[in-house]
Amino acid sequence: MKTKVADRSSLITHHSSLSGLSRSTLDRLAKLGINSKFDLVLHLPLRYDDETRLYPINEAPPGQPVLVEGNVVECHIQYRPKRQLLCHIEDGSGVLTLRFFNFYTSQLKQLAAGARVRAFGEIRHGFFGPEMVHPRYRVVHGDMPIARALTPVYPTTAGLAQDTLRRLIARALADCDLQDTLPQALLDRLGLPAFREAVLLLHNPPPQLAQETLQERRHPAWHRVKFDELLAQQLSMRLHHERRRAAGAPALKAHGSLARSLLARLPFRLTRAQQRAWREIERDLARPHPMQRLLQGDVGSGKTVVAALAALQSVENGCQVAVMAPTEILAEQLYHKFVAWLAPLKVGLVWLSGSLGRKDKRAALAAVAKGEAKIAVGTHALIEEEVEFADLALAVVDEQHRFGVHQRLALRMKGSRPNPGAQPHQLMMSATPIPRTLAMSYYADLDVSMIDELPPGRTPVTTKLVSEARREEVIRRVRDACVAGSQAYWVCPLIEESERLQLKTALETHAALAATFPELKLGLVHGRMKGEDKAQVMDAFRRGAIQLLVATTVIEVGVDVPSASLLVIEHAERMGLAQLHQLRGRVGRGTDVSTCILLYATPLTAAARERLKIIYENHDGFEIARHDLRLRGPGELLGARQSGMPLLRFADLNTDLDLLDAARAAAAALLREQPDAARRHLARWLGTRHEYLKA
Ligand code: ADP
Ligand code: MG
Repeated sequence: MKTKVADRSSLITHHSSLSGLSRSTLDRLAKLGINSKFDLVLHLPLRYDDETRLYPINEAPPGQPVLVEGNVVECHIQYRPKRQLLCHIEDGSGVLTLRFFNFYTSQLKQLAAGARVRAFGEIRHGFFGPEMVHPRYRVVHGDMPIARALTPVYPTTAGLAQDTLRRLIARALADCDLQDTLPQALLDRLGLPAFREAVLLLHNPPPQLAQETLQERRHPAWHRVKFDELLAQQLSMRLHHERRRAAGAPALKAHGSLARSLLARLPFRLTRAQQRAWREIERDLARPHPMQRLLQGDVGSGKTVVAALAALQSVENGCQVAVMAPTEILAEQLYHKFVAWLAPLKVGLVWLSGSLGRKDKRAALAAVAKGEAKIAVGTHALIEEEVEFADLALAVVDEQHRFGVHQRLALRMKGSRPNPGAQPHQLMMSATPIPRTLAMSYYADLDVSMIDELPPGRTPVTTKLVSEARREEVIRRVRDACVAGSQAYWVCPLIEESERLQLKTALETHAALAATFPELKLGLVHGRMKGEDKAQVMDAFRRGAIQLLVATTVIEVGVDVPSASLLVIEHAERMGLAQLHQLRGRVGRGTDVSTCILLYATPLTAAARERLKIIYENHDGFEIARHDLRLRGPGELLGARQSGMPLLRFADLNTDLDLLDAARAAAAALLREQPDAARRHLARWLGTRHEYLKA
């Protein structure tokens, strides 16, 4: 990772640091993501208070904070029903009570009769007439002008007062270089104001500016900031793309004999979409530059076999492949599939996971280091320090969105041993479809292959929404199905706050269901089980020795048992859309008609009701992802931590698509025609954070 930073240094200018502040202030600023003076410039207000206008007390509009000024008529502490300071002011139009529950006794003196007070707050009409609770106020001495700009209210954190922030930001605005990074012609064409003008206006807007256009971020000044942010993101991704194109990778020629053998042995034919994806990958692998391709396809679309074909291309060239999955169950299952498909072709495979015994692990590591094992399948264990590949040419990451950026990077780094400077090709797979807007914005430098059809013969899963009150019916249905020879999953309620409680719930659910279904063979899988125990249960389920499998959401991704055709999810109202879609994908994998029963407890929140409705009405993962994006926003969907990317702070992909398009076009033109401007822009917006983008 060091080299990554170093060779990028020409693009990074360090923003001037925050000097002269106390440690605790610095810590608080850091909490807000402010680490440099320039970060203060970009710390934009949440909203504005209008203190530019003095209202007569009896004419102040209701429902919004207003500024009033009057003379104190009387001020005292009242003890009942609660200790409070009451101060009555009068301005000729009316009398207003200022009420404080937290106060210092010194305020009694400060607000003594006769003092002139300016107070800002919302007026409510209580039993004793108009009053303001805890207004912001100031004692007026002599001639004190009122504000000429709206007062910005900033996002802040405990212990950091608005006034302090305002002061720091004002200073940063004066100290920082706010010169434009972009050519005037571009700004003219897009109708955007200068950067300096935009940030100054957003921090200190003149009073006549309609509040809503500012608050709803429709003002040109907001557009400028959003455009800049999107442009920085696009520039950065283009640079990464170029860098990758310049890096070396083993060119894996497509001989095709192993692939042909595999295809001949499969009990099915590839769908057209699978063939297309495979061709794209095949072509990329043959190039001397690292592939970085995302293979997207809805749950059950058959990504694994495409990955196996890619792996064979590496093996045919005498190179190795690492296949990493996020959970033990999933990795195990991938391993079984690879063994079934590839072992008959005499391809050496090993299994590597944390649950492996010492001796087995040592043997596996040796096989990988000597190059005897051509394909290593496993969990995070694959990226541990001790794992050394003889000649890794392809890294496959399944359910890639479940990994952090560092983990994906670490796997890639396993490839540099025999040939320093060369990177392995990378194939990432995901069943969480990324809507176009997100893909454009976040995966702009990834190539994407799409498997957009399901294998033939799949019957769509029927989804049923059933209230807890009708649990008995569900139980009858499970019994009937299992007795008739089907298999079913029963997914335990999700307990997010505690893993221990989650386990307890799983055990209890299993015990309760065992009592309910004495005639059925039940199994249980949960996240805390040892790898081999889990594998045993899954295997028994696959063989049909278990009829009803009680499971936590560990079965969420990838688990593939085609003969299971009924799925019950308890407390479905607690789960997110992506999770429900993934879980539902556990059935409908064979040719049987499958059913997914979503049991929910009432009363439902509005959000839960909407989620259930969406999952009931939609089967297409892309459609569901689009709804998810709408409901939760891209940050949640990708997970900032997971993606390792600075998420957009200002632009909103739901509303700013036209800006995103403009930024994409501008990024290309700028890099081509004015690389200096591009560099200045990146430095301003991303500073040192830059190197982590898109690993
Ligand atoms: P996912 O894309 O969710 O990872 P899998 O690769 O696990 O899906 O495939 C789901 C199931 O479909 C597996 O049992 C797999 O063997 C099977 N399968 C894959 N491709 C085809 C195909 N072209 N025709 C029929 N079945 C297929
Ligand atoms: Mg899969």
